[in-house]
Amino acid sequence: MHELSIAEAIVDAVKEQMIENAGSTLKMLNICVGELAGVEVESLRFVMGVILEEEGFKDTEFTIRVKTAALVCSACGEKLPASRIGEICPECGEWNMKLTGDRAVTLESMEIEDEDQP
Ligand SMILES: [Zn+2]
Repeated sequence: MHELSIAEAIVDAVKEQMIENAGSTLKMLNICVGELAGVEVESLRFVMGVILEEEGFKDTEFTIRVKTAALVCSACGEKLPASRIGEICPECGEWNMKLTGDRAVTLESMEIEDEDQP
């Protein structure tokens, strides 16, 4: 299961960060999924929740943002949604639409609360 290995990789990275920030509380994770990554966001959300709880981060919240892919015309720069792949450019009529987007799943940021602070 694709989403499971992604979630494990994210949580592993988080655990390393938390070793460096020992004594702090992990409040929030912000995850970004490229639309071309082939990730089922709802599945990822589910397994992230399970793994975070297993790893002792059950109070940590997280968000998953999808970075949408797009088609860009190489001739005139017109942009279309990625779902219209295979179409000619409606602007100039060239058959030159190139898919641009992200296949990566990244941990964009994490919020850590220092226990010494209120
Ligand atoms: Zn065009």
